[in-house]
Amino acid sequence: MATERTLSIIKPDATRRNLTGRINACFEEAGLRIVAQKRLLLTEANAREFYAVHKDRPFYRDLVAFMISGPVVVQVLEGEDAVARNREVMGATDPRKAAPGTLRAQFAENIEANSVHGSDSPENAASEIAFFFAGYEIVG
Ligand code: ADP
Ligand code: MG
Repeated sequence: MATERTLSIIKPDATRRNLTGRINACFEEAGLRIVAQKRLLLTEANAREFYAVHKDRPFYRDLVAFMISGPVVVQVLEGEDAVARNREVMGATDPRKAAPGTLRAQFAENIEANSVHGSDSPENAASEIAFFFAGYEIVG
């Protein structure tokens, strides 16, 4: 398996509860290295564009409002099979269905305020990383 990179976002429900460090510790314990990271407030335009794939879903407007409701921490995680490994660490979208010990089982408030985002394929990881980071900001 090759070394990969994936985009992670610690969402506003988690930054509000001061969970950034605990979530980062879980990534590192799973063998994922945080090779880029910054805390920012998404603009509405940013959030709409980032989640454009969901623009026809009933939850889109609420999701955009949630993602701009407080700071997020955007980060690039690097490691063996990083996209799939991060999805395992995150757990299912709905915390009621997330396996015990996963980030969403431990920390999510509900299916929307579910604490973390992670890219779902290597192709989407590349475009999501480029959405937030210039090459010089990623130090492996
Ligand atoms: P994931 O984040 O697990 O890849 P999706 O890409 O399907 O999940 O959805 C993107 C985000 O939209 C979710 O993480 C969650 O914040 C929100 N979301 C997904 N499904 C719902 C839903 N049924 N109701 C409210 N919000 C949802
Ligand atoms: Mg997704």
